[in-house]
Amino acid sequence: MNCEDVQKKIVLFNELLEEEKREVWEHLKVCESCRRFFEEEQKLRELLKSVRVEKKVEKLSWRRIAITAAAVMAILLSVILMTPKNVPREVIYFQQKGAIVEIFIDGGVK
Ligand SMILES: [Zn+2]
Repeated sequence: MNCEDVQKKIVLFNELLEEEKREVWEHLKVCESCRRFFEEEQKLRELLKSVRVEKKVEKLSWRRIAITAAAVMAILLSVILMTPKNVPREVIYFQQKGAIVEIFIDGGVK
């Protein structure tokens, strides 16, 4: 097996047969440049793992934001629908998971 073959197999290392893995290991013992390639590949894999974890965390917080936004919209809508048109502009405070949100009867959320 030449270096090019070994490096191709290193990229697919997790999918290799046991025998192929053994061949790669044997080559790594005697070849400095492939060993370095292998180490780089491992680092890259670790990096990809950590990126995936970050994405999961991001997803969760976005979902929380969406739920909060939906709750705010629902309350805002019911306030608008239940408020007669001649009522002067008022500010309603309510607490949503610890954050104070101001709702103006005539429209926007601040
Ligand atoms: Zn090599």
